Amino acid sequence: MADLRGCIGSARFGIEAHEAPVTDFPVQPSQKDGLGRLCRPHWDQYTTALRKAAAAAKAEATRPAGDATTPEPAETKPQRAKGKAPEPVAESGEATAQ
Ligand SMILES: [Zn+2]
Repeated sequence: MADLRGCIGSARFGIEAHEAPVTDFPVQPSQKDGLGRLCRPHWDQYTTALRKAAAAAKAEATRPAGDATTPEPAETKPQRAKGKAPEPVAESGEATAQ
């Protein structure tokens, strides 16, 4: 029987806490028990979300202050709330680069 370990998830990025086999957790020597606090898939999801959030925050911070003048005409886009955001294309090859 595999031992279960709690994955803490991330409220910030919408990752729910749950239990997963200990073998699903990445080794993290910096943690006191040597294992990560999120399971591997969620850890990937978390770090990806964190990186995107950091990039977005950086973009926000570096945006020129004068940019606040009507970024988008709101009236001319009735079909916008379709729920399908464009997929980031260059994402897949990026993970191995680090
Ligand atoms: Zn998890």
